[in-house]
Amino acid sequence: MKRILVTGGAGFLGSHLCERLLNEGNEIICLDNLFTGSKKNIRHLLSNENFEFIRHDVIEPIQLEVDQIYNLACPASPPHYQYDPIKTLKTSVYGAINILDLAKRTKSRILQSSTSEVYGDPKVHPQPETYWGSVNPIGIRSCYDEGKRAAETLFFDYHRQHNVDIRVIRIFNTYGPRMNPLDGRVVSNFIVQALRGEDITIYGDGTQTRSFCYVDDLIDGIVRMMSAENVTGPVNLGNPTEMTVAELANKVVQLTNSKSKIIYKPLPSDDPVQRKPVIDLAKESLNWSPKVNLDEGLKHTINYFSKII
Ligand code: NAD
Ligand code: UDP
Repeated sequence: MKRILVTGGAGFLGSHLCERLLNEGNEIICLDNLFTGSKKNIRHLLSNENFEFIRHDVIEPIQLEVDQIYNLACPASPPHYQYDPIKTLKTSVYGAINILDLAKRTKSRILQSSTSEVYGDPKVHPQPETYWGSVNPIGIRSCYDEGKRAAETLFFDYHRQHNVDIRVIRIFNTYGPRMNPLDGRVVSNFIVQALRGEDITIYGDGTQTRSFCYVDDLIDGIVRMMSAENVTGPVNLGNPTEMTVAELANKVVQLTNSKSKIIYKPLPSDDPVQRKPVIDLAKESLNWSPKVNLDEGLKHTINYFSKII
């Protein structure tokens, strides 16, 4: 049994990760400031004596005794990370420093949940880990993109300078149950709109692409990365099946039998035109590849949202 800290543990991905690690017999400390996460996501875990919730903000240092750390704390949807951009940057940078200091003191292995956003609006397609990205440093997405890039830098400098045992993953768009229905990301927006019979809002002309990974696959990849030896990363984790946003909208309408009509809204600035992971490294070093196809994953997600809204 390991004592494992999950920062951002009350969020969408964090709550699934806590559940998985708890089921494997570990003791979990879930740390979250509940900015975008919710106690509802972890309510079913609170009665487990091996689960502990701490309300804390990662921009402040914390002293804990742990064996492993997953650092997920950071708002992930554009409307949420743009709500208070300075706080978002502090969360990535001060958060990384504070949690890396904790890893250094406790000699814990620490995993950073980085993002495909480090590739910005990529000029190389699909994106391998060797691509350094194309990020606007002064745009409305920069607080998130540059914060995550700086956090990667901090992870590698703590590794080189202090020998901290790091793991860095770059997560591509992931969806599934426990996404916040108001969080503004495309999968949750489209499903909620379709289920309510509201207009489905495509930003821009819908030709931009994304590659969507189901949460269970992603969590499996994260856990494999933590237990892999001699792999610091960065390693891309995502589903390489690429589609346009318009195709996603049509798919959601079809699967929900919705009468919603599709409408078009302005494209936010710096919205990446294309995104698809190269996952060869994850296949080779983690023996990982996603198993759940989009139809199946969307059905689970639609089922979840139809119960909660
Ligand atoms: P989420 O918003 O549901 O979860 C983030 C969690 O972090 C929330 O519970 C939030 O309350 C908490 N948090 C935010 N700021 C904090 C702070 N200062 N101190 C403590 N807790 C704080 O989003 P998610 O999709 O679960 O994302 C989790 C992690 O994965 C994030 O780091 C995100 O950048 C990364 N990621 C997610 C995706 C995706 O598609 N879901 C893609 C790339 C990267
Ligand atoms: N998007 C959209 N309608 C929405 C929400 C998002 O067309 O209601 C688009 C958005 O402009 C982007 C894509 O869907 O091109 C994915 O957006 P999301 O916020 O989910 O993730 P990210 O842009 O960070 O990949």
